[in-house]
Amino acid sequence: MKISIIGYPRVGTLRELKHTSEKYFKDLITAQSLEQTAKELRRTHWSVQQNSNIDLISSNDFSFYDNTLDTAFLLNVIPERYKALELSPLDTYFAAAKGYQGKNGDVKAFAMKKWFNTNYHYMVPEIDDSTKIKLVGTKPFDEFVEAKEQGIITKPVIIGAFTFLKLTRFTGTKNALDFVDDIAKAYCEILAKFNTLEVQWVQFDEPYLVCDLTNEDIDLFDRLYSKILGSKNDVRVLLQTYFGDVRDCYDTIIKLDFDGIGLDFVEGKQSLSLVENHGFPAEKTLFAGVVNGKNIWRNNYKNTLKIIDELQKHCDNIILNTSCSLLHTPYTLDNETKLDNKYKKLFSFAQEKLTELSELKTILESSNPTNEEKYICNASLFAENRNCSNEAVQKKVASLTDKDFTRLPSFEEREEIQKKIFNLPLFPTTTIGSFPQTADVKANRSSFKKGEISESQYKEFNKNKIEECVKMQEQLGLDVLVHGEFERNDMVEYFGEFLDGYLFTENAWVQSYGTRCVKPPVVWGDISRKNPITVEWSTYAQSLTKKPMKGMLTGPVTILNWSFPREDISLRECAFQIGLAIREEVLDLEANGIKIIQIDEAALREKLPLRKSDWKSEYLDWAIPAFRMVHSGVKPETQIHTHMCYSEFDDIIKDIDNMDADVITFEASRSDLTILETLKQSNFKTEVGPGVYDIHSPRIPNVEEIKIVLRKMLANISASKLWVNPDCGLKTRGIAETVSSLENLVQAAKEIRNENG
Ligand code: GLN
Ligand code: ZN
Repeated sequence: MKISIIGYPRVGTLRELKHTSEKYFKDLITAQSLEQTAKELRRTHWSVQQNSNIDLISSNDFSFYDNTLDTAFLLNVIPERYKALELSPLDTYFAAAKGYQGKNGDVKAFAMKKWFNTNYHYMVPEIDDSTKIKLVGTKPFDEFVEAKEQGIITKPVIIGAFTFLKLTRFTGTKNALDFVDDIAKAYCEILAKFNTLEVQWVQFDEPYLVCDLTNEDIDLFDRLYSKILGSKNDVRVLLQTYFGDVRDCYDTIIKLDFDGIGLDFVEGKQSLSLVENHGFPAEKTLFAGVVNGKNIWRNNYKNTLKIIDELQKHCDNIILNTSCSLLHTPYTLDNETKLDNKYKKLFSFAQEKLTELSELKTILESSNPTNEEKYICNASLFAENRNCSNEAVQKKVASLTDKDFTRLPSFEEREEIQKKIFNLPLFPTTTIGSFPQTADVKANRSSFKKGEISESQYKEFNKNKIEECVKMQEQLGLDVLVHGEFERNDMVEYFGEFLDGYLFTENAWVQSYGTRCVKPPVVWGDISRKNPITVEWSTYAQSLTKKPMKGMLTGPVTILNWSFPREDISLRECAFQIGLAIREEVLDLEANGIKIIQIDEAALREKLPLRKSDWKSEYLDWAIPAFRMVHSGVKPETQIHTHMCYSEFDDIIKDIDNMDADVITFEASRSDLTILETLKQSNFKTEVGPGVYDIHSPRIPNVEEIKIVLRKMLANISASKLWVNPDCGLKTRGIAETVSSLENLVQAAKEIRNENG
């Protein structure tokens, strides 16, 4: 039995590619030296796979920024505005990745979107009517040759034509169908070129196949691949899917002339039954994705063997595979020096997953698999008690009833009570929470972490910052104030550190986009709150002002979505545990005189399942209650805010209203305010603060433009429900631009108040 992986991480075990690229962006090193780092990384990654006896080692999974962008450049999908800059090919590529502002011009980057249900973001290709798709790049061929020179015959990986077209934004009048012939021709040429290079397997990634497909989609896929496979030569073609099952097109894909089909048996709930019920063609190879490419946990060999056993009844040729690219896991446990072995032995990062594949191979090839040493070790690992449970927490979750998810009295009654108590002006002004994390704020935190200053020195500094921040907001004339979040590095890690059941790594970085990586904390056990987390900061801030001070928390869904979740309990169970912990914090804030509490759910939409039919049952049915539980215990006069970092929630608008917050703020400035219509049509009851300017840019909005935005909002939102705020936290901004922007925001609100009597 052979083993394969879909792709390997590329930023380097210590984020070498990130650091080197950033130096290049700052003009500190040459393109050549960046290329050199890239080459060394590829070399290392191939060697690592070779050392783990991976039979089908991937190439072209490397990228300077993003594989979808690579594919666009391979296929000449390069908008004129980038070509017009007349930069080197590498710099043209980076211009599309990050935008360009310099002596050759000023252009925005490709848009960026979430890659299916992961936290990775891809660059959205743009095609206009003048785009001519054709093979112009050489990256997949060059990398194959490079690996061959290293003595390794790799399996080149390319995003497939169908997924590429489905993810593309068509800016003119033409659509995907208009490009079928050209793109198919380009892929035929790719196959021909691979043939001359004596490539054995090529992998076309088609993850879009696991989404809800229309008949037109299936037709498009069929047309593309009938053409592409029509010119097949000696190169074997693997159709690789991941992130779910291919229930809408299984029959179509097994009829086409692919040599291999890669299915995901981890996230693909129906993958096994599809094979069982529809069979699998004898002449094809099944690439069975059984080692989870997304999580950080050891594979349970017993369960995996069961799946393989079942598959062997239906398929003659099986290659063991990961469930998706290992891009979504950190590199290696070798870099975790502080984590106790009692945890580490249950962890598996990318490199360890390679070992798992090779152990599974040994086990499966043995005449008596369950007698194999590796099998026995693995079984005993899973038989051990993890000692991570907290019975009190489990009991609390088990005894939750409807009452715990229902805040009383009703929204309408609360709204009336709160209007009286707070007596805020029409269009109250506020911010989302964080204020600029200036160098001194970061330095203070890092000195404290390194033990260079005492806890009281650390706190003293932050309290001074809070005082400055409160004064600044009073001078600006904002109505509802915040403390500024100077004590937080990150909105999830900060809370994780105060919760029992969380673990932290030193180097478990995962690429989020381009050169940006995140280091999600790990949910190890049952979650509970050790001590009050934010109460000291919030009450101190409130003591400095008569205006209401918002308590500032992160909600359970966001905390969970930006962590590595456990596999031994459900996401629902885990979200409820975190919800109970945050609920305690909410009640403590309230008991300590905080009258407005914001519970951020920045990432609520992120883990919405790929298939619409799963949205409710698999996600919203617990995610919304997890939020409701956090605030259901507060008094009617306590005002609950929430914040979301996106505005694409037209399709879950009812669910968001159902979170039953009193006020919601969200990003809207970059999305043409289309959400406003939806708010109106759905009779959205929650008061709303759609961001009036974009905090992701240093640009200062002027009073007039904010007023224009506010007038547009008022066309759809009743005056009594509209709040005025930026679209997200200000932590990445500088002080000067923040002050000017907020001055203009407050001024615009005043003028609009006057206009509205
Ligand atoms: N309260 C957080 C802040 O202001 C919210 C951040 C976010 O939405 N990502 O920074
Ligand atoms: Zn936000």
